[in-house]
Parts: sequence; structure tokens; C-alpha cells
Amino acid sequence: MNKSATDCDVLIIGGGLVGASLACALEPSGHRIALIEAFELKSESQPSYDDRTVALSWGSRCIFDGMGLWADIEDRVEAIKTIHISDRGHFGATRLRHTEEGVAALGYVAENRVLGEVLYQHLDNHPRLSLHCPAQIVDIEQKPDHVLATITENGKQKTIKARLLVAADGVSSRVRQMLHIGSSIQDYGQSAVITNVTPGNPHNQVAYERFTDTGPLAFLPMTESRCSVVWSVPSEQAEALANLDDETFLQQLQQRFGYRLGRLRQVGTRHVYPLRLIETTQVVRGRVVIVGNAAHTIHPVAGQGLNLALRDIALLTELLSDADDAGDSNLLRSYIEQREQDTERVYRFTDGLVKIFSNSNAPLGHLRAAGLVTVGLVPLLRHQLARQSMGLSGRIARMGRRPSHV
Ligand SMILES: Cc1cc2nc3c(=O)[nH]c(=O)nc-3n(C[C@H](O)[C@H](O)[C@H](O)COP(=O)(O)OP(=O)(O)OC[C@H]3O[C@@H](n4cnc5c(N)ncnc54)[C@H](O)[C@@H]3O)c2cc1C
Repeated sequence: MNKSATDCDVLIIGGGLVGASLACALEPSGHRIALIEAFELKSESQPSYDDRTVALSWGSRCIFDGMGLWADIEDRVEAIKTIHISDRGHFGATRLRHTEEGVAALGYVAENRVLGEVLYQHLDNHPRLSLHCPAQIVDIEQKPDHVLATITENGKQKTIKARLLVAADGVSSRVRQMLHIGSSIQDYGQSAVITNVTPGNPHNQVAYERFTDTGPLAFLPMTESRCSVVWSVPSEQAEALANLDDETFLQQLQQRFGYRLGRLRQVGTRHVYPLRLIETTQVVRGRVVIVGNAAHTIHPVAGQGLNLALRDIALLTELLSDADDAGDSNLLRSYIEQREQDTERVYRFTDGLVKIFSNSNAPLGHLRAAGLVTVGLVPLLRHQLARQSMGLSGRIARMGRRPSHV
């Protein structure tokens, strides 16, 4: 195939965590990449790199390692050595431990901003990347052997010709809308109040997932002895809760979480995110593939959204590395087939957790407690739960295979 017939091989729309990760992952493939991002890089207003934190699974750590980025991330994140799962008001609890899984950590807590800095630093040194930023996609035309994308940049329109277009443009994806690809939305009626707190006692690298009658509450260990808090509450209560003064907010949080980490002392800015499961009805259309939040937006209860997207990226990179034509239909079919099972598993796992554990029904509460005790007692079940949380269920793409040095 004559590569000079197109401006690039892979055109990525959206330079958030997922789009930027894909651009970095594709660097060694030799493909010419173009990335379109609506916001100026490194700007405070860049929505993907805000105050939020993400729990990266062990599998995602291996993928970042395969991309050559982990060495720059490692010192700026906190390890999760134990996951403690409990149900408020019930006896049951279970613990997943890194030692039982034979890994250095079950996962890591990273600030989105830190990941953004590392990714953009890497993109600056990408030899075959053409960056269009700030720029927006305004039109897409699909041809048999390429895609024509019209973008606006500096008030001017340009057309970019690519073999493959990857839509990583977030939950309200313009690309999805332009191609009239539908999505199914399941609104959980919950919102997450996100903040950081400093507890009185050290977190000892334990992540706490506590299920309460109003929704799940997670405390994740962060650097500088802080914890990242993801508190899911009924949507109608979220804004009022987030707007409480610091002292009252901490009192209510303490009452929900208990005293496992001593007295909660300091709290940061609060943000509210509505929690929904949004699934695109089609992941591939012609020479367009949809990834990240544009393809699936998942309740953060089990910390799976970015982790799932990184596994998508790892496989896409593997398939593209061996390809002459990046938008080849067989390649994209193989991508869909190979990613189907993992995606389904994550949907079911997360959706099940939300529905079972966000219910105040008393008999269900006892069943939940029994379930947690069972998982706590039966090593095989615990191991399966840990493998799912670590992003290690199913086939692992080449880039995410465990590096020899860990
Ligand atoms: C409260 C909360 C907690 C979470 N916790 C976890 C966790 O612990 N673990 C985990 O794995 N995941 C977690 N997630 C999920 C994770 O944050 C997302 O999966 C991830 O941020 C998705 O990134 P993205 O790049 O797909 O989308 P986005 O971050 O939305 O990025 C999209 C990008 O596209 C750009 N863009 C949009 N439209 C256009 C256009 N027309 N032209 C050009 N560019 C455009 C935007 O400017 C943006 O930069 C959490 C999510 C939430 C809400």
C-alpha cells in the first residue's frame, strides 16, 4: 500500500487519557499519527486531566510499562497492596492481598493530572506525530480506502486523509453523533462526590471499598498520606453534600466510613459526576473505531473505565503494529471479536456490584454479607475477584504481558 497517498495512517480524535495513551502506544509501530484535541495542551481547562484520581490495575501498570512510560509514572503514584471490601451495617468483609496474587501491588492510585503530564511529555518527543491543538473535528467522510476528516484549527478548516480514524473524544463523542451511532444509557440515579482527605492514621496502602445503603464509598490510598474519596450518593443529594462546609462534610463522611483510618482531618475541593453506564451500539463503523469514554462510560465503583480502555488500546496497538492498512476491515473485525468478552465481563461485574450493593433491602443485605464472608473464606473466589480487579481476566495483549523484571 502506498502510504504517501494519505496524510497519516491513524487519526486520533481526542487527546484525553485514552487518546493520548493510544498515540504513545503506537509510537514504535512506525505508523504516522495525527492527534486532534479541542483544548490547549497543559491547560487547566483540559477536562481529562483534572483533580480526579484513577485506580490503575496491575494489568494497566504492565501496559504503561510496555509503552515505556511506567518509569516516569512509578514514583508519582501510590501502590494498593490490599483491598478491603465491606458492607456498612453488616458483619461481612473480605480482603484481597497482593502477596496472595504474587504481584508487587494489586494496583496503583494515580492523579489524572500526573498521567497527563507524563503522556504529553512523551507526545512532545513522538517522531511521527502531528498534533492539532486546539482543534475540533467538524465532518467525517468515509471512502473505501481512507477517511476524510475536516477539522477547524486557528479559525481555518483543513482536511486530513487517514487510513483509520479513532474516536477518543469522550462521553458526548462528536464522532459518534456525526456517524449517527447510537448509545444505550443506563442512569443509576447516582452521582459521585469526589475529593481528597487526609486521615489521622496512615493508610498503609490499603484501598477500602465500602458498600452503604445509599451507594458505594471508596477510600483509595494516595501519595502524601492522603486518600482519594469516591462517594456515590443518590443524584438529588450530591450537590448539597458537595457544598457542605469542610467540617460538616468531614463529619458526615466519618459517619459513613467509620474510624478505620482514625479521625478524618482535612478535605480538598469537591466535584460531582453523574454515574451512568453508557454503551455505544457499534464500536467499529467502516474505518472508524470508537474507544474510551466515547465507547463505554462505566460506573467508577470498581475502577474499571480507564483500565478497560487501556486493554482496548493494547490490543489495537498489537493488531496495528503488524498492519499495512490501519483501517483494514479484517483487522477491525478481529479487534471487535477479541475485545467483546472482556468488555461484557466488565459491564456485568460493575453493573452487578452497583445493583446488589446499592440496595437497602434487608434480606439482600444479609445475602451480601454472606457473599462477602464466602469470598473472604474461599481462596479461589477471592483469587477470581482479585484477577478481575487487577485487569488480568482473559487474553492479555502483547503490550500488557508481565514484564520480565517484575
Ligand atoms: C468519578 C470517576 C472516577 C473514576 N475512577 C476510575 C478508576 O479508578 N479507574 C479507572 O480505570 N477509571 C476510572 N474512571 C474512568 C476514567 O476517568 C475514564 O475512563 C477516562 O477518563 C476516559 O478518558 P477518555 O480519554 O476516553 O475521555 P475524556 O477524558 O473525556 O477525554 C476526551 C477528550 O476528547 C476531547 N474532545 C472532545 N470533543 C472533541 C472534538 N470534537 N474534537 C477534538 N477533541 C475533542 C476532549 O477535550 C478531551 O480531552 C473514573 C471516572 C469517574 C467519573
